[in-house]
Amino acid sequence: MGIIHVVSVSGGKDSAATLLLALRRFGRHRVRAIFCDTGNEHQAVHDYLDYLEHTLDITIHRLRADFTDRFAVHRARLEAIAAGGPDYHPTAKFQWTAERAAQAAALMHPTGNPFLDLCLLKGMFPSHGRQFCTEELKRNPAVEYQIDLIDQGHTVVSWQGVRRDESARRRDVQRFERIGPGFYAYRPIADWTADAVFGFLAQNGVEPNPLYLQGMDRVGCMPCINVGKSELRQIAARFPEHIQRIAEWEKLVNEVSRSGKASFLFSGGWERIHERVEWAKTSRGGRQYDLLAGLIEPTACASAYGLCE
Ligand code: SF4
Repeated sequence: MGIIHVVSVSGGKDSAATLLLALRRFGRHRVRAIFCDTGNEHQAVHDYLDYLEHTLDITIHRLRADFTDRFAVHRARLEAIAAGGPDYHPTAKFQWTAERAAQAAALMHPTGNPFLDLCLLKGMFPSHGRQFCTEELKRNPAVEYQIDLIDQGHTVVSWQGVRRDESARRRDVQRFERIGPGFYAYRPIADWTADAVFGFLAQNGVEPNPLYLQGMDRVGCMPCINVGKSELRQIAARFPEHIQRIAEWEKLVNEVSRSGKASFLFSGGWERIHERVEWAKTSRGGRQYDLLAGLIEPTACASAYGLCE
């Protein structure tokens, strides 16, 4: 028993730098690297984890949320409605018909993809206001892993690659914090800038994820539900297969959604991903096509961090 330093790796630069700091300070045997696999990442993220394991001579433990039990419960509820029983949520804006409930029940089985499974269970996609993806696909598996270590008698220090200049919400994060008995959070790069992070990785001979060189501001889900307009345009130009996958997920989630109006990106309306991509190609206000946007060269280097300079 003793102190275990757990680093949650995302495939991005900040967590890579944090992992490097933890390893330099405490060594491989006292550091555990974990990765919460949402099932919505680009293959480059998985390749980058392999690269980190090889370069740093470590193992990164892959964690995946499993919703099998919740599927069984939800399927039983839908089957009951299909058999003539009452809706389990009588005040909902949209009500199930027996026919739609039967169709939804038939689809209510785990696919093996955590992101899609969660959306099927919820009958909707996450949004900025209801960001259940972060909680259920990333936070919960990471917390469960660390609670298990505490239950085994370890003290856990959770190293988090969070920077204050990333967003207003993170401006006041503390460098060190007690979360609970035997459980602490440490944020060693809280005061670093993005440039400092890239510089630190370079000094230590660690490459950043190549997605930064392909127009991605952040490395995580592809796409993230909070994707910006220009990044969505970049994804559509460079990785159209991800847009197509989301379009297929939208069809499936709509089959099991009460409203039948689930869309991956919230726009205030019911626009599907392909419509949002078309919008992303427009200039301000969405009325006019931005001709430059249509001329994106998919192989050109366009890092938002200026790595190509
Ligand atoms: S990266 Fe975006 S889509 Fe993925 S879990 Fe986080 S908020 Fe959700």
